[in-house]
Amino acid sequence: MTNNYTYDVIIIGGSYSGLSAAMSLGRALRQVLVIDSGLTCNRQTPHSHNFITQDGEKPAVISAKAKLQVELYKTIHFYNGLAVKAIKNENGFEVSTESGKHFNSRKMLFATGVKDLLPEIKGFADCWGISVLHCPYCHGYEVKNEKTAIIANGEIGFDFAKLISNWTKDLRLCTNGKSTLTLEQTEILKNHGVQIFDDEIASFEHKEGYIQNIIFKNQEKVTVKAIYTRPPFEQHCPLPIDLGCESNEQGLLKVDTMQKTNVPGVYASGDCTTPMRSVAIAVSTGSFAGAVINKEIIDEDF
Ligand SMILES: Cc1cc2nc3c(=O)[nH]c(=O)nc-3n(C[C@H](O)[C@H](O)[C@H](O)COP(=O)(O)OP(=O)(O)OC[C@H]3O[C@@H](n4cnc5c(N)ncnc54)[C@H](O)[C@@H]3O)c2cc1C
Repeated sequence: MTNNYTYDVIIIGGSYSGLSAAMSLGRALRQVLVIDSGLTCNRQTPHSHNFITQDGEKPAVISAKAKLQVELYKTIHFYNGLAVKAIKNENGFEVSTESGKHFNSRKMLFATGVKDLLPEIKGFADCWGISVLHCPYCHGYEVKNEKTAIIANGEIGFDFAKLISNWTKDLRLCTNGKSTLTLEQTEILKNHGVQIFDDEIASFEHKEGYIQNIIFKNQEKVTVKAIYTRPPFEQHCPLPIDLGCESNEQGLLKVDTMQKTNVPGVYASGDCTTPMRSVAIAVSTGSFAGAVINKEIIDEDF
């Protein structure tokens, strides 16, 4: 192949997963461009947990430390901005940014994460990641044994209540509209002391993101210290789909065990590929993708 490209790899997304891939590739002497728009999904969370060596650290501090370390590898370059177009051509890929810059590379990695689609409940967005939580492994320990609510319905709600009962028994399930739990599920939850509220939620009363009360449309007020819920999400970046990458029924990019998408030369890692959302997994899959991309280039050239 003639070298009609500037970079071996363009990584779109320069958070935990993208930076981890960049470190693997930098240590493999690759020319890499990391394009990042700076909107990580956990940016409102005061403290990140369950990532060894960084437990309790501020999310932005973890990514700043990561960037400082990756910057030491001189073949890694950074561009702060939004990638808005990616096309495949005979040499590899061309990526365009919102500000009209064009970059080209031989391989591409999407570490672009997902965008949570927060419900219109007043106060929800203010509390997201502070006292309205998506994952007990990330934040459950800090609110163990506290008055807690889960917002979910049906099978998901039942399963979520079962999971969270590991961290607190002071639990209520808010179905936010007519319950779709089966009679058996309702009975089991009641036997475990889980209260069920099926009115729609009007708003959250909170202090600087720390939830105090859930206010229902029927004016009922329930005092809690924490809420768990899993809002719907979409891919943060539409470019992999534009390039022909397939997604699964959950809306996650399909990758094989080597982090390869179905489009030759295009890889994906981190939250955009897995429902197991955690910094540790984003770092792990990014690191692995970096190594696999490097090996693919070696195999093509040797
Ligand atoms: C509220 C909340 C709290 C969390 N708390 C924890 C916790 O305590 N512990 C834990 O382990 N995990 C936690 N997580 C999960 C963790 O934050 C994610 O698993 C992790 O951030 C995923 O890393 P990523 O690199 O895949 O994606 P992200 O961190 O979401 O980063 C994606 C990056 O890609 C960029 N990007 C997207 N599209 C483009 C584009 N077109 N052009 C340029 N850049 C683009 C974005 O701006 C962003 O910087 C939390 C998640 C949430 C939502």
